[in-house]
Amino acid sequence: MRLEIIKENGQREVFCGLTSIVWLHRRMPDAFFLVVGSRTCAHLIQSAAGVMIFAEPRFGTAILGERDLAGLADANEELDRVVTDLLVRRPEIRTLFLVGSCPSEVIKLDLAKAAERLSTRLQGQVRVVNYSGSGIETTFTQGEDNALTALVPFLPRNDESQLLLVGTLADGVEERFLTLFERLGISNVASFPPRRSTELPSLGKGTKVLLAQPFLGSTARALQSRGAQLLSSPYPLGVEGSSRWFEAAATAFGIDPAHTASVLDPLVERGRAAVAPHRRELEGKRLFLLPDSQMELPLGRFLHRECGMELVEVGTPYLDRALQQPELDLLPAGLQLSEGQHLEKQLDRVRAAKPDLVVCGMGLANPLEAEGFATKWSIELVFSPIHGCDQAGDLAELFARPLRRRAMLAFN
Ligand code: SF4
Repeated sequence: MRLEIIKENGQREVFCGLTSIVWLHRRMPDAFFLVVGSRTCAHLIQSAAGVMIFAEPRFGTAILGERDLAGLADANEELDRVVTDLLVRRPEIRTLFLVGSCPSEVIKLDLAKAAERLSTRLQGQVRVVNYSGSGIETTFTQGEDNALTALVPFLPRNDESQLLLVGTLADGVEERFLTLFERLGISNVASFPPRRSTELPSLGKGTKVLLAQPFLGSTARALQSRGAQLLSSPYPLGVEGSSRWFEAAATAFGIDPAHTASVLDPLVERGRAAVAPHRRELEGKRLFLLPDSQMELPLGRFLHRECGMELVEVGTPYLDRALQQPELDLLPAGLQLSEGQHLEKQLDRVRAAKPDLVVCGMGLANPLEAEGFATKWSIELVFSPIHGCDQAGDLAELFARPLRRRAMLAFN
């Protein structure tokens, strides 16, 4: 397919990678995420995590003070002290992530070295891992990509045949997927990240990797460099994406296509029936997706092909061609795709196109609503269970809801 890509650079309205801590810490309750950053970073996490900050948090910020920034204090000594205090108070922590931020990167604080030093000191008790979630280097979901990449070297070696699902999934969705793989005849399935940070899956030549999320490019490459084979598939969003995702695994494991169909067909049928009432509301409506999570391509594909929406523009913060090709193949020819962001120019395009629905971050949603646009907050898509055929109806509903609410509130 020929691609029209608008590549933009300029003011951006996106989260930094620190935000991914909000869902990663729920996935691995025995891990702690210590951001080494400024008060700005602490504020960001607090606002993003909302009420969760009151429930014994498993994340925090070691705030770099003026003395650290001016080079007067030995930041490494201070960090060691903070970590020691933290582990005394929270002895249940098994993995400690030292998360880099803009300030720690700008003053070139070597957190990789600090992680190594602390790991050696705490050997047998706590594993200390470093990755960057800074706004200079990462956008939103890329934080998860960096966190998982940092864990890859710790995965034990094992060349036996297995399927590795990569990317954080809601617990209920993960359980459902494991049951379905079992029914397909694939029983040796592991998840990465695991639910316990100490139970890392093994990895080797017999590992076939199926990405559950499209934003895991660097993790995928790290897994491949250790011998794993990456399966190519659209992502498990919507009925079509999910069934193709399962089929990709079934084909790779030599499962009889007739058996695969017998397992998947009833799910496809049920999923389509669940999408149908929402399709009636979404069909023919014009959609503009602003860049946020790298999930825009699979979402656009689902909303176009299964819900009948017309795509005005699909924006993504970063386009990883290798990982998104199966999605690009399913999108309509001549699609207007944008990579990166120049906020003002993009908003001009939104206003000129007058779409029926704009998918965007929270910073833009209310202002756009005030201008008369119906909007959908994109952040909900990383917190809601949206993967799999069973969730396709719920996923469509997330987009139909703002349109329905708008219709209900119209007074004319
Ligand atoms: S890491 Fe950078 S972008 Fe993110 S909150 Fe901290 S200062 Fe802001």
